[in-house]
Amino acid sequence: MTSDVMTRPAVLILLGPPGAGKGTQARVLEEKFGLVQLSTGDLLRAAVAAGTEAGKAAKAVMAAGGLVSDEIVINILRDRLAEPDCAKGVILDGFPRTTVQAEALDVLLGETGQKINAAISLEVDDAAMVTRISGRYTCGGCGEGYHDSFKQPVSAGTCDKCGSSEMTRRADDNAETVASRLEAYHAQTAPLIAYYNGKGALQAIDAMGEIETISGGLAKIVTDVTS
Ligand code: ADP
Ligand code: ZN
Repeated sequence: MTSDVMTRPAVLILLGPPGAGKGTQARVLEEKFGLVQLSTGDLLRAAVAAGTEAGKAAKAVMAAGGLVSDEIVINILRDRLAEPDCAKGVILDGFPRTTVQAEALDVLLGETGQKINAAISLEVDDAAMVTRISGRYTCGGCGEGYHDSFKQPVSAGTCDKCGSSEMTRRADDNAETVASRLEAYHAQTAPLIAYYNGKGALQAIDAMGEIETISGGLAKIVTDVTS
């Protein structure tokens, strides 16, 4: 690692439709590289649960599978990025999701002399996403993700990582809402692939295979773009 990289925390973006595995892979990269996962979905769900003004405004939009306003999301992300742990480097999961957000991110990073190391597109088939999303659930204790068909805990109902038996499913992980989320992705987020390609920052990976195979490919990309 060069001293330049040491003084400039890595900024990685994971792009891809809902269900592509951004959250799962972000957690793996977090552990492997000591980076911090920033999920605007998680931050918004926390705001909804806490009943903040932003949370109140976001709740119905999220339940319908639409996108929360750029203003709310950018403010939430700006606050989170200012927290000291982000100096370790960040993996953005679910942000940016619109061109306005991508431009705001460039400005935010510019203020502290940072820039994006890479935007990594997780390439998947739309048709598989409904199955992936409908079967997924999360450990309430540690946030580890599981799936009815693809990734069961070793002992049914008990988290491999932390031993908790409190598993939760997201309210918006149902077939109807998933269709709207995929539509929002294609209309508003997929154009970011061209945006980052134009900046020479785009990397792509086939994300239809085994979780470990994809993690291996991603780790290689992250090593390349941060060294
Ligand atoms: P997924 O990627 O599986 O759709 P997320 O947890 O990233 O799930 O997001 C859940 C919901 O939160 C989205 O459907 C959207 O309503 C809202 N959301 C998350 N990130 C953003 C964002 N960057 N801009 C606008 N809305 C967002
Ligand atoms: Zn757990």
